[in-house]
Amino acid sequence: MTFQNFGLIPELLRAVSDSGYTTPSPIQQKSIPIILEQFDVIGLAQTGTGKTAAFTLPLLQLLHASHDPNKTIRQPRGLILAPTRELSAQIGESVREYGRHLSLRSEIIFGGVNINPQIRKLRQGTDIIVATPGRLLDLVTQRVVNLSKVEILVLDEADRMLDMGFIHDIKKILALLPKQRQNLLFSATLSPGIQSLANSILKNHKVVEVAPRNVTTELVNQVVYKVDQKRKRELLSYLIGFNNWQQVLVFTRTKHHANKLCEQLIEDGLPAAALHGNKSQGARTKALEQFKTGKIRVLVATDIAARGLDIEQLPYVVNFELPNVAEDYVHRIGRTGRAGMPGNAVSLVCIDELHLLRDIEKLTKKTIATEILPGYEPDRNVKAQPINMRHNKSRVQRFVPKSSEESTNRTSKYSARSGTSKNKPSVRTKPTHRSTDNRRNVWKADDRKAYRGSV
Ligand code: AMP
Repeated sequence: MTFQNFGLIPELLRAVSDSGYTTPSPIQQKSIPIILEQFDVIGLAQTGTGKTAAFTLPLLQLLHASHDPNKTIRQPRGLILAPTRELSAQIGESVREYGRHLSLRSEIIFGGVNINPQIRKLRQGTDIIVATPGRLLDLVTQRVVNLSKVEILVLDEADRMLDMGFIHDIKKILALLPKQRQNLLFSATLSPGIQSLANSILKNHKVVEVAPRNVTTELVNQVVYKVDQKRKRELLSYLIGFNNWQQVLVFTRTKHHANKLCEQLIEDGLPAAALHGNKSQGARTKALEQFKTGKIRVLVATDIAARGLDIEQLPYVVNFELPNVAEDYVHRIGRTGRAGMPGNAVSLVCIDELHLLRDIEKLTKKTIATEILPGYEPDRNVKAQPINMRHNKSRVQRFVPKSSEESTNRTSKYSARSGTSKNKPSVRTKPTHRSTDNRRNVWKADDRKAYRGSV
């Protein structure tokens, strides 16, 4: 099977060949023909399977065919909704890459950045919008965007959009679209929520599915290291340094943990950056760019920020903390082992997380090889404690301890998690300078946000 078999126009075949693709991936083989036939589609596929091209190539071909070059004002005829800014930017780049030999215009719209440049560009007219739902609605409210001419709607990573609470925004956007349109819904999982969303928008649709859902790819070598929570950071630095890993994506459960781990890794001499929802868009773009170009070795991310990221030939993913939802493990390790390249997924698992590991093994129907590294043997006296996503109060106090006794006697789980090594004090044990300058307020603000406990 080749891309020529689909009857793609020469401009798209040239773009595909410019991108170096020779054979369509399974999701492309299944989706492209039926999208070109203008069916509604549910595509069940993970990121990393080539699903962006699977919907973008036929979308470009159909919009090119219905493009009227005599129209002076361009209104969006293709709308792609994605859950995160990074994913929108990534899809937007793919739209431009695959459409580089066509005269269609596209714009990428997401929040967290100044709205005015987006307004200016949209006022010049566009054929395709790739957007996160919230910012798109802002622009609709300001009458900068009119969605009444949309011919093709794509909901990408629809399961994640529902998880992130975008259903109300999506419903508002759907109400602004013409009734007659083609709908393409891509999702990694087919939950009851996705099924009901699909039932409400799709007409006479076809289902395409690649790799069975919740299956981890054989290309990713998975290993679990059992280790105490408080030794995780030391073990992570050791693994990166000893094995000379140069590009490692590390996942934590919360934004606060991502910030904290990032600081500690930098202290350990490992160039690192954090990527999560509290970071400005500028900081997120910079962190990703530095990671992709090798300026930093470690990117510490939360699940939401890392969803859908496409980092070419990423060799290592580390679960510093296992996710609470087993499906997220599949997404996390799917960042590596992409496009036919082998990858490695390492999980640092403490006693509190054994039930999460069991859930993951049940979901993926696979037992993950477990190892204990000499020198990092778990302490048998440590008892399992419930996992708390919140940033608890005693931890905030830790930055300005009232007395040394209070800080050493604290037995909360979060204190134990500070990862303080015997030989190397953690950054949190010497925060006194923070209380003398206004950085202290920064920390407090950050702590308050982390207390709300989201990623
Ligand atoms: P996606 O699942 O859309 O995020 O794509 C994952 C990666 O696969 C991206 O780096 C794409 O550039 C790449 N890719 C997409 N289609 C193909 C193909 N047919 N052959 C080789 N690589 C591809």
